[in-house]
Amino acid sequence: MSKPLRRALVWIRRDLRLYDHVPLARACAEADEVVVGFVFDTTILRDLQDKDDTRVTFIHDSVMEVDRGLAEHGSRLMVRYGDPVEEIPKLAAELGVDAVFTGRDYEPYANHRDAEVAQRLACPFVTLKDHVIFEAGEVLTQGGDPFRVYSPYARAWRTRFRPEVDAAEAVVDPAAFGKNLEPHVQDWPLEKVGFVRGEPWTPGGEAAGRENLRAFARKIGRYAANRDFPTRDATSGLSVHLRFGTVSTREAFRVALAEGGDKWMSELIWREFYQDILANLPDVVETTFNSAYRDLEFPGSDEHYQAWEDGMTGYPLVDAAMRCLNQTGWMHNRLRMVVAMFLTKDLLVDYRRGEAHFARKLLDFDLAQNNGGWQWSASVGADAAPYFRVFNPYLQSEKFDPEGEFIAEWVPELAALPAHQRHRPHEVSPMELLAAGIELGKTYPYPIVDHAVQKDLAIKLFSDLRGS
Ligand SMILES: Cc1cc2nc3c(=O)[nH]c(=O)nc-3n(C[C@H](O)[C@H](O)[C@H](O)COP(=O)(O)OP(=O)(O)OC[C@H]3O[C@@H](n4cnc5c(N)ncnc54)[C@H](O)[C@@H]3O)c2cc1C
Repeated sequence: MSKPLRRALVWIRRDLRLYDHVPLARACAEADEVVVGFVFDTTILRDLQDKDDTRVTFIHDSVMEVDRGLAEHGSRLMVRYGDPVEEIPKLAAELGVDAVFTGRDYEPYANHRDAEVAQRLACPFVTLKDHVIFEAGEVLTQGGDPFRVYSPYARAWRTRFRPEVDAAEAVVDPAAFGKNLEPHVQDWPLEKVGFVRGEPWTPGGEAAGRENLRAFARKIGRYAANRDFPTRDATSGLSVHLRFGTVSTREAFRVALAEGGDKWMSELIWREFYQDILANLPDVVETTFNSAYRDLEFPGSDEHYQAWEDGMTGYPLVDAAMRCLNQTGWMHNRLRMVVAMFLTKDLLVDYRRGEAHFARKLLDFDLAQNNGGWQWSASVGADAAPYFRVFNPYLQSEKFDPEGEFIAEWVPELAALPAHQRHRPHEVSPMELLAAGIELGKTYPYPIVDHAVQKDLAIKLFSDLRGS
């Protein structure tokens, strides 16, 4: 049976893989010949400050791997550098395609960009759901509204989930991949894109991502018990692969189901929840989800913000987490909550400053999750931590880093202290500090604020606003 289209272009963006891929599967089903294209987007790249940004290396490596995968089927990846609003219509015209297929992206910038691309294309622009299982409008309350609270959202989500249907729509037939294409990837080494190689803490590409998922599946049974402990290596580390689509979201859910990873599945559903919120309410990028806090002004100082960013607050677990982030681009989820809560409640600094720092540093930075996580921690978001339940950073430290191992690794100036003393060095006797080679205020800071005092101030800040 002949297919409706002669030639199609599939534009990959946050779906840098060749398997279990809805736009690619659909294009292969509908077109005799399918060409895959990627654009190094200058609008995004020019805002990145570090020339060795590890995300660019991760993307570049993943894109190269897609090209190698296509080459195995006699095809090649078409790569362009520039503004996709110009580049995609140009590429489509050069190739003479009958349609362009792509996976939907829910960020405000992407929505705007895609609307312009659609306008400029001379052929249909087919956008398809691929990045999530359910997108905005698909999981709704009985009254037909988007959910504002996670638990009922997750229940409704689970009721709708049909993994076998989703899987069938994403099967790619490589026989349709276009042949005899000029290789274009080699034309765009990192240097030509304006960057140098960084060292992502985990390698890019579909092969590494799927291997990571397989390895995690073997230990998924221990996830629920160990996921909150940063030194136990219990979480999947897949966030960056889900971000760039080097692992398919559907496959992650299939593994969760097959391996009995129910708790892990709940975390994947948090990701869907935050994607849903961003798509429904793009204003959350600028302002609080909870309208009661739109006028909240955080009185915290620049000096305190800087101590937080540098990992020099005198709160060892907070400092260890921030130094880990700054040096590697990774931070464990428990620590993300601890440092975000600390910045907003102990230092009373606007969550948007912390959010922006995470956006610069995290390899897995994803607007929806990062914004959701920050708004949750600052008590201004959807189903957020109640403002009066402020984490005690010392208790968090003693509970989730009981041996002080994480602290010793990232705050080496405290490593000579016995494990139980690493959480609160300011309470250690002068003799013991001396024996460990520590001079507080010199080799390691005193706590820059008093948690008990700041906690009360934070609660007052929120309750005053609610009362007013
Ligand atoms: C302040 C703050 C900022 C955050 N910023 C980001 C971000 O930029 N990008 C990002 O992917 N995640 C973010 N998260 C969520 C979470 O911390 C990471 O997804 C998780 O630590 C990644 O590790 P993992 O892949 O080993 O997770 P696992 O525990 O193995 O979880 C599996 C997947 O579920 C999703 N997930 C897990 N926890 C959450 C959560 N709390 N909210 C939403 N999705 C979740 C992620 O896609 C993750 O890869 C943030 C959380 C907080 C509190």
